[in-house]
Order: sequence, then structure tokens, then C-alpha cells
Amino acid sequence: MSTTATQSAPAASAAPSSPGATGTALVLGAGPVGQTAALLLAKWGIPVVMLDARPERDPIGSKALCQQRDVLDVWDHVGAGRAIADEGVTWTRAVTLYQGRELYTQGFVDRGRSPFPPFVNIGQNRTEEILDEHIRANPLITEQWGHTVEAIEQDDTSITLVCRLTDGSLTRVTGDYCIAAPGNKGHFVRDMVGMSFEGETFEDQFLICDIRTTLPGWEFERRFYFDPEWNPGRQVLIHPCPDSTYRIDWQVPPNYDLAAEEASGELEARIRKIVGAADYEIVWKSVYRFHARQVDQMVAGRLLMAGDGAHLVAPFGARGLNSGVPDAENAAWKVAFVMKGWADPSLIATYHDERHAAAAENLDVTAETMRFLVPQSDAEKAQRHEILEAAADDPAARAKVNSGRMAEPYWYVDSPLTTPSPSHVFPGRPPKGEDPVPAPGVIAPDLPVRMPSGELARIRSLARHGLLVLVGADLSVADVTAVLAGLRCPTTVLSLAEADPDGSVAAALGASPSEAWVFRPDAHIAGVATTVNGVRDTAYRAICLLP
Ligand SMILES: Cc1cc2nc3c(=O)[nH]c(=O)nc-3n(C[C@H](O)[C@H](O)[C@H](O)COP(=O)(O)OP(=O)(O)OC[C@H]3O[C@@H](n4cnc5c(N)ncnc54)[C@H](O)[C@@H]3O)c2cc1C
Repeated sequence: MSTTATQSAPAASAAPSSPGATGTALVLGAGPVGQTAALLLAKWGIPVVMLDARPERDPIGSKALCQQRDVLDVWDHVGAGRAIADEGVTWTRAVTLYQGRELYTQGFVDRGRSPFPPFVNIGQNRTEEILDEHIRANPLITEQWGHTVEAIEQDDTSITLVCRLTDGSLTRVTGDYCIAAPGNKGHFVRDMVGMSFEGETFEDQFLICDIRTTLPGWEFERRFYFDPEWNPGRQVLIHPCPDSTYRIDWQVPPNYDLAAEEASGELEARIRKIVGAADYEIVWKSVYRFHARQVDQMVAGRLLMAGDGAHLVAPFGARGLNSGVPDAENAAWKVAFVMKGWADPSLIATYHDERHAAAAENLDVTAETMRFLVPQSDAEKAQRHEILEAAADDPAARAKVNSGRMAEPYWYVDSPLTTPSPSHVFPGRPPKGEDPVPAPGVIAPDLPVRMPSGELARIRSLARHGLLVLVGADLSVADVTAVLAGLRCPTTVLSLAEADPDGSVAAALGASPSEAWVFRPDAHIAGVATTVNGVRDTAYRAICLLP
């Protein structure tokens, strides 16, 4: 018979395991990925020094605008997600149009019950400010601005960043591991640790203007226009933002010159074609080219590369910051587990396995989008024209229209940390807008579970405190608890029948009473076991402790 039990953790301040280690993690770069890494490391109880070359926070514009619900959920774990979501504009529909006619509207299906909407639009400058508030309030995080990392030294026990200060002097900062998030200009850092950054830079340019105005009816949806009369032959993307502001993103020719267009009054005319006679104010404008690149290795000794420093993708689908934050989460729990002696140090190398594959998936998805958005040959152009012409009436043609596949969490199906299950096989990339079917490697649908105390908790927040096991009625919770007693990390074991009296969690997972579901510290499913020893092997494999 099952009982409910929880096995609690060693204290968060457990001593670091590696002899000679300082017990400090370094974060290089105070962009949103570095900020997230610092907050997550501190949440695990790790003291952090976060360094940035800039003398202070100097937000330059909205940049990453569109944040996906699972990213908001990560920020929620460090206390910032709710404020970011509440301040942003929620949208649940993506509308795609061709020459002014609506082709289709996409919704977003959540297999769980996330407390967050599918997407929230908020400027990166504001997101960074909110994350800063939490960083400043966290006694475990030390910020070091005006520290340009010029050299990196490491040995078997520590890593040292040699930094140039604003007065020209040099200083050295040493820690156990470094999560580096140096952004798209991170080549100095990549060169220092020998990472290549292969890929391509696209010729076409994009003009972004954040415009404060009134566009009634457009406040809660993303609108993507193929070939509108006001940007013939090219596309325009419009996103609602807080404060009656709209992000308008025009595809413009490779030789586009913003200064010349402003001087000639053509920019005013371009904007007027969209806003009509309404008053408007340009809040931010920028022209950019995009890149499709990825480092060959995401781990170099004690340095884990994250965010734009590790990969750059086209912005359609909002897969930039929305993939940098999962990098930060993946790196932070692994560094924390190794520093605390909860996992084998070989766990660090799996950061590369998992996040390199995630970046490759993002490159594949955005490359498909770019082939459709910017066809390179006459044949590709003709084919696209044919698809768009047919799409309004023909569902088969409509399915081929690609205005970007929105960001989604990656599935660590092939990871060395994942234990495959013959009865829960990942069927591959899910249809657009849908969460994947739960299976080993996939992030857990977020659902409430009842704790032995009677309180409700969320699957994901329980998992984010260590390892979580939900045990089906045919297995003994006491036996599972006993077999995991050797783990040093925080571990929660719950009877699924008692935690899920109405069966909604079991239904969302597709769990049977003969199974125990094991969740990793980033809420991804580590595996589904049908024996007590299987649970042990799945949990031990998830943190590289399986011999
Ligand atoms: C126009 C535009 C629109 C975008 N829209 C979206 C969107 O809607 N959704 C989305 O998910 N993403 C979007 N992105 C991408 C998003 O902005 C980036 O993915 C995000 O900024 C990456 O964050 P990061 O922390 O990796 O790097 P950054 O924000 O670039 O931060 C890197 C930091 O590292 C510091 N640094 C670099 N080198 C050193 C050194 N040697 N020593 C010390 N410090 C150093 C820099 O000073 C900087 O502060 C957009 C980007 C652009 C340009």
C-alpha cells in the first residue's frame, strides 16, 4: 500500500564539495541571461559574483519583447515572473494576413494549467530593471560593473576572470565555475576559451520602430502581414506593447538607410500608412541584420556559455531570450548541484549536450521560417507566391505558410540524463502552438498537486527545489523513498493518488498506476519507471550518479 512521504534536503548552505574551491560562482555578463543565471544560482544558495564591462545598467531600447510562458515561469521561481507578466501585454492569438486578407489565426494550447499566459510583451529594458530589483535585494549576489573580462585562466579547481577596470587597472576574480552570457558581441570571450561561432549573417535588413499610438482592436494580438500594400513584396510584423505602444518591424532592402529615410520624410509616410491620422510618437527605432550562428562547444572547462554568446537566431518566433533563459536555468542547476556535492562533476558536460541540441533546433526552425520569409531564388519566390495566393482557400497551402514558429521549451529526449520509456515515446516536434505530449525529456505540464499537509503546490515549483518523484498507486512510496535515501540533493517523493485526488495530473501526464514519474530540477521529465530500482536508476542518471 502506498503512503505519502517527503524526503527533505541537506541545508541550502551545504559546503562545496571540490577541495580548494571558493564556493562562489561567477556570471560574466549582466544582460537578461546573466541576470537570470545569477538569480537562479543564488536561489540554490550559491554565492555569485556577476560582472559586466558596462559601467552601469544603460538600457538601450526594448529589444527582446515577447516572453514565452515557460520563461515567465523560470522568472517566477526567482520572484520576478509575476511582476514581468503583470506589467506586460498578454496576447493569446497570432494573426497572419496576406495582402490585407486574414489567412489564419493561431492559438496556443497548454497541456497543464500554467499561471502565465502563452506570451507577454514587455520591453527587455523593463525586464532587466525588474530582474535588477531582485538582484539588488539578494545578499548572495555581488554586482561588479565596469569589469571588462580580458583573459580567462582555469585549472582543475577554479576559474579566474582577469578584468580591466574603468580606471585602466586590472583585477582578478576567482570562482568555482563561470556561466558566461556575453551577448552577441561575445567574440572576445569565445576566443579566450577557443569556441568557434559558425553560421551566416543575412543580407536583408529589418527596421524596428516602437510607436506609441492608438490602433483599436490590435491591442491583444500579434499581426503578421505578408505583402501588405504599405510594404509591397515584403512583410511587416506588429506586436502590442505596454503603454499603448506597438512594435512595428518592417522587412527593408539590404541597402536601406534609416537616416536618409528620416531626412526625406519617408519614415513619417511609412508610419502614417499604418497608423493613419492618429497621433503617434516614436519611442525607439533601430535597424538590424540577423544572424544564424552557434558555438561548437558550450562548455570549456569550468565555463558554460549561455544566451546570445552561444547562439544567434532570426527574431521571428522570439527564440532569442526565450532560449537564453532556459540556458541559464540548465547551467545554474548543474553548477549548483556540482558545487554542493549533490551530483557528479560530469553533470557539467551535459549542459553542452542539452543546450547545444536546443540551439540547433532553434536554428532549424528559424531557418525554415527565413527560407519562406526571404526566398533566395526566383523558383523559391514563385513557390512562395503560389502558396500565399492559394492559402486563403486551401488548407494544404495554408499549412505551408510560415510566419515563424513561436518559442517553446526544448525536449531533452536524447540527453544522457534522460531515461527512455517504452510506453512514453516522444513523437517528435509537436504541431505549431501545441505543447509536446509528456514523455521523458519533455518539460512537465504545470498542474497543482496536494501536499501531505493539505496545501496545494505546483509540480514545477516542487521540481525546481531538487528532484521530484510522483509514485503511482501500484508502487510503494516508502520503498521509493528508501531507495533514494542515498541522494544528497533535495528530493520530494509523493503518492500520485494522494497528491492528485481528481486524477487530472495523471490524465495530463498520461500516467498509469504502475508508474513513477521522475522530474529534474528544471521540471523536465527525467524518466518514467515501473519498478523501485528503475526509479533509483532514473533519478541517479538525471544527476550523473549512475555508475
Ligand atoms: C531588435 C531585437 C529584437 C529582439 N526581440 C526578441 C524577442 O522578442 N524575444 C526574444 O526572446 N529575444 C529577442 N531578441 C534577442 C534578445 O535581445 C537577446 O537574445 C538577449 O539580449 C540576449 O541576452 P544576453 O544576456 O545573452 O546578452 P546581452 O543582453 O547582449 O548581454 C551581454 C552582456 O555581456 C556583457 N559583456 C560582453 N562581453 C563582456 C566582457 N568581455 N566582459 C564583461 N562583460 C561583457 C555586455 O556588456 C552585456 O551587458 C531581440 C534582439 C534584438 C536585437
